[in-house]
Amino acid sequence: MAKLAIIGGGISGLAAGIYAQLNGIESEIFESHTVVGGQCTSWKRKGYHIDNCVHWMTGTSPKKEIYKVWQEVGVIQDPNKDIIRHDYFLQVDIDGVKAHVWRDLEKMRQELLSIAPEDTKEINIFIKLIKKFQAIELPSKLPQEQMGFGQNMKLLFKMMKAIPAFAKYKKLTLEEYAQRFKSPIIHQIIYNYVPKQFYVISAFYMYAMFSMGNADLPFGGSDAITDRMRDKYLSLGGKISAKKKALNAEINDKKITKINFADGTSIEPEYVIIATDLKVAFNIIGHNYMDDNLKKAFNNTTTHPVFSNITIYFAVDCPTNDIPTMEIFNCEPYTIVGREHKVVIVNNYADQPNFAPEGKGIIQILMVQHDDEYQYWEDLYNDPEAYKAEKLRIASEIQQRLEKHYPQYQGKLSLVEICTPKSFNRYLGSYKGSYMGFIQTPYAPKLVHHGNVDGIDNLCLAGQWLQTPGGLPNALVTGKFAVQRLIKRFNLADHFRQNL
Ligand SMILES: Cc1cc2nc3c(=O)[nH]c(=O)nc-3n(C[C@H](O)[C@H](O)[C@H](O)COP(=O)(O)OP(=O)(O)OC[C@H]3O[C@@H](n4cnc5c(N)ncnc54)[C@H](O)[C@@H]3O)c2cc1C
Repeated sequence: MAKLAIIGGGISGLAAGIYAQLNGIESEIFESHTVVGGQCTSWKRKGYHIDNCVHWMTGTSPKKEIYKVWQEVGVIQDPNKDIIRHDYFLQVDIDGVKAHVWRDLEKMRQELLSIAPEDTKEINIFIKLIKKFQAIELPSKLPQEQMGFGQNMKLLFKMMKAIPAFAKYKKLTLEEYAQRFKSPIIHQIIYNYVPKQFYVISAFYMYAMFSMGNADLPFGGSDAITDRMRDKYLSLGGKISAKKKALNAEINDKKITKINFADGTSIEPEYVIIATDLKVAFNIIGHNYMDDNLKKAFNNTTTHPVFSNITIYFAVDCPTNDIPTMEIFNCEPYTIVGREHKVVIVNNYADQPNFAPEGKGIIQILMVQHDDEYQYWEDLYNDPEAYKAEKLRIASEIQQRLEKHYPQYQGKLSLVEICTPKSFNRYLGSYKGSYMGFIQTPYAPKLVHHGNVDGIDNLCLAGQWLQTPGGLPNALVTGKFAVQRLIKRFNLADHFRQNL
């Protein structure tokens, strides 16, 4: 039996496995699904590639600490071949007027000024803020408690440029900040495709990372991330057991002594990393082990809301390289769960090889669902006919708007897949179908959980939920940090070895 059992084979579990093996710790990943990857996954439907996750991956600039982590886990091998770098991240089209989030910030400034001269002052400030936030670093070398005074100071110094702006703006939501502009197109640029309740820092950060070349797309999409991590893990001698749903843990003398799986089997590991959705983790070990901070977060949907998505995939019976990689356009309002939506968010996979058969295209529509909308999907799922009918109604509403916006696709769109928040919950155990962890609002400080659980010594948690606002980079580093924490706690290796 492997020494270290890792429960959950998403990005955090795979990262934990890789760093365990790199440090000579024998490990095995136990994944409830048939494949590893968690939310960072894809599948085939009707001959098309359905990419579930990646719209942007932070950590593609060698100037940032996290780049090295993506390299160490095998995701970035040759940046010239592995990364797609677009000139712009997003096109917003409001009533036919188009604006872009350009990589070249001067070009973005000029374009916004020409569209909305009435917002000149705020546009200039916005661009300056994006530049300042290029200094932000996601600490990726060591867990915070293992960083010495010198390392903390170094990090602080690196981020110095962004700190005053951070302090000034951290109390504003995207929606509140957008009100400083008159132009509706700039409002949409600020919201982009994330919930308006996010704190505004998220927009500065996103565009800062994109413009400095630290947030791009991997060639091959989500699979490129997951497959390379899986292959790296296996090449280092790691083991993966699929279809192993952990049900509960037996805890004696402050140690997990046994983990029982749904198939009736059990293991008796020496050390454990649980790298599942956080609610699942506490279902396994018992909610009495949840600390007060986490309890408060789960109990307050204003300070710590959880957002999910509806994703719809349309096949296009012609190539789609005539539309942007990501576009948001306004449209006739449509209603989902009683809430009016006025835009459509489109992802186009034209530059991903083999996502669609020769001469055809595949596009994804993304629709954010709010915390209080999740229960609707949970209830509706109990009535399979009504659930199916509602999915088809939404797809049909969207198809009409797509055909109006892209008249060249009239009669060429066909529905291939639709996922609801309930789908993410069903397949991966994602709490309320969440696609990140708690989102970062202005109403609570950033949540950075140390992964340790009081009362269970041989356990460390990993996963995107430990650091708001989740996402791939947080999943990645928390997997690495969980191994570093166990190494330190149990003196498992002389020192943490990376990049062997
Ligand atoms: C639609 C969508 C779009 C996204 N887009 C982006 C993006 O553009 N950029 C970005 O950075 N992030 C994006 N994300 C988020 C990103 O996918 C996640 O942050 C990341 O994949 C989370 O990894 P994780 O390991 O923390 O958790 P998960 O992926 O949830 O992995 C947990 C794993 O544990 C398994 N598991 C659950 N319960 C058990 C159990 N009882 N026993 C054993 N195994 C169990 C699950 O099956 C899963 O494989 C997106 C997510 C979604 C859903």
